[in-house]
Amino acid sequence: MKGIRKSFGGLEVVSGVDLHIKDQEFVVLVGPSGCGKTTLLRMIAGLESISGGELLIDGQVMNRVRPDERGLAMVFQSYALYPHMTVADNMSFALRLAKVSKAERDRKVNDAAKILQLDHLLQRRPAQLSGGQRQRVAIGRAIVRDPKVFLFDEPLSNLDAALRIQMRIELARLHKQLSATMIYVTHDQVEAMTMADRIVVVNKGVIEQLGTPMEIYQNPSTVFVAGFIGSPKMNLFEADTALENGQAVAILDNRGQRIPLPVDPPRGARVTLGIRPEALNVDSQGPLGGEITVIEHLGGETLTYIDIGNGKLATVKTGEASLGQVGDTVRVSFPPDRLHVFGPDGRALLN
Ligand code: ATP
Repeated sequence: MKGIRKSFGGLEVVSGVDLHIKDQEFVVLVGPSGCGKTTLLRMIAGLESISGGELLIDGQVMNRVRPDERGLAMVFQSYALYPHMTVADNMSFALRLAKVSKAERDRKVNDAAKILQLDHLLQRRPAQLSGGQRQRVAIGRAIVRDPKVFLFDEPLSNLDAALRIQMRIELARLHKQLSATMIYVTHDQVEAMTMADRIVVVNKGVIEQLGTPMEIYQNPSTVFVAGFIGSPKMNLFEADTALENGQAVAILDNRGQRIPLPVDPPRGARVTLGIRPEALNVDSQGPLGGEITVIEHLGGETLTYIDIGNGKLATVKTGEASLGQVGDTVRVSFPPDRLHVFGPDGRALLN
């Protein structure tokens, strides 16, 4: 994608996206509702016209190529199965339209059914399948077409939590097995973190950050990305800055707690400090402290919420044991290299 733009009426919803997706890569476009990720995917698919810029596939400009001639297959959130057709007919429908022989159609459907463990369901109709099975049929319909690129538009949103996790694993396995290029749209950052070779964080119609899941997790380049990627969310605290005895410090809004900064922000700048919940540890000399207000036991991990002043909570993530009990006062610190500092424009001042 080179400088891709999209406007609806006078309103620009995609504002100049440059993105090079490599062969066989699994790229996840992630961002909040309305950020433009679905529109981007639909422009790649040819379901939406491109207002500006160029879309190339294998070096060929595709802007005006018909959707069915782009060599892509799209899997929708709604599955879009034909209710009156069997699973086998649903999967072979596009091949029949393309005048592929019956023998060839059967072979492709059987191969895909094997990969997706649908062999025993080929004669059923969609109404006789579970949500996860329907989703697999929708994916099977894409596989039989042997596309250059698979496009997925929030394909797991209609599944319950357990099935989503299972399908996540199956999709990752499928990606390896087919050695296919996959572009996947979701608003779920966990799906992005777990499946992507590279994540594209989209916000307000532009790419906010692009990188491997761990690059983005460890070095978010903006406050937006810092808050969006990671669960539980990164702690974000606003602060004034000052120079005290030659050392730049952040002065937190709530209780005036001071945190030495590893960077020199512009004089007098307001900054946002970011610390991941798992980077905070109990430390009686720590710069942050307050009363424990809530403890959530999740089994293997525990989330402790500390009121660090004026109701502002710090989230601390630990293993099975909690930091203390509700009502206890604790102080916490963090390794200096786990502190993220974002300037007034929301961009990281150090990484
Ligand atoms: P979601 O996760 O909610 O689907 P998204 O990031 O996929 O969100 P898009 O569907 O790409 O967002 O929409 C981006 C913006 O474009 C939104 O503000 C939306 O209202 C607008 N939009 C999308 N399609 C149209 C259309 N056909 N006509 C007018 N505006 C549209």
